[in-house]
Amino acid sequence: MGSRILTVLIAVLVLLTTPSSSIEDFKGADSRTLEQDQLHQVHSHEIHCSRERSRAAWKIIDEYLMPFVEEQNYNISTKCRLHADNDMFREQEQHKIHMDINDWRCGFCKKTFRAEKFLDKHFDNRHYDLLNASRGRCLADLCGALHCDSLMNSKLPKSKCNPAATARNRHLCENVADSCFPIHEGLQASRLHEFFLRQFCDAHTCTGSQKPFPRGGKKQSSLLYLAFSILCLMGLAVFYVIFYLYQREMKRTVKDLRRISRTERKPKPL
Ligand SMILES: [Zn+2]
Repeated sequence: MGSRILTVLIAVLVLLTTPSSSIEDFKGADSRTLEQDQLHQVHSHEIHCSRERSRAAWKIIDEYLMPFVEEQNYNISTKCRLHADNDMFREQEQHKIHMDINDWRCGFCKKTFRAEKFLDKHFDNRHYDLLNASRGRCLADLCGALHCDSLMNSKLPKSKCNPAATARNRHLCENVADSCFPIHEGLQASRLHEFFLRQFCDAHTCTGSQKPFPRGGKKQSSLLYLAFSILCLMGLAVFYVIFYLYQREMKRTVKDLRRISRTERKPKPL
């Protein structure tokens, strides 16, 4: 009986000591993970900005905003987060040389790559020092306001609208409009302020009544221009074909008339 109690006591002691040691081990592992995470955060803090989303934001700015800013001859201030200087990846992106479909070249060291994603990795690894990752230079942070998802995930089915996120994006969008196109700066700025609200901010609603970029962009106008040019060229070609056929027909008629008149003039044999 006594030995059984002793065995049970030993078993309880073992059970009590084992978890505590494993908890310590776990704590050790946890603290190590934490340290690693902190180190990772320190390292990634500087590059905690998505290159892909920054690129999407830049595409949107370039396509749906800049043509209208240029039309108004307006200079965006460097204080505005949409300014090219406030995109930390801009310099690297401008040093991408696209030679052919599967031929990308680094503009800094002339190395070649089969795809853009490898060049992106090369920039991250080799030309990291060229990134000025100071505060406010991550264009991807404006993606919520600029509708990057509509550009990047255009083929995916639309997820359910989140009213809180939509309100946040609208607020961010209006802040960008206020800081980039201050109404008190004059007519051009207030026109662009109004334009920015219609083009980007109105669509931040869950009703789905408004679509982003209702005023169109560079691509659309160039596509329209291309379609118009093709139509003009086709019209011109049809005109020349008709003109050529008409001329040919006219020449033939004149020849026939001459032949007839010659045969009529011939003296009849006696
Ligand atoms: Zn390089």
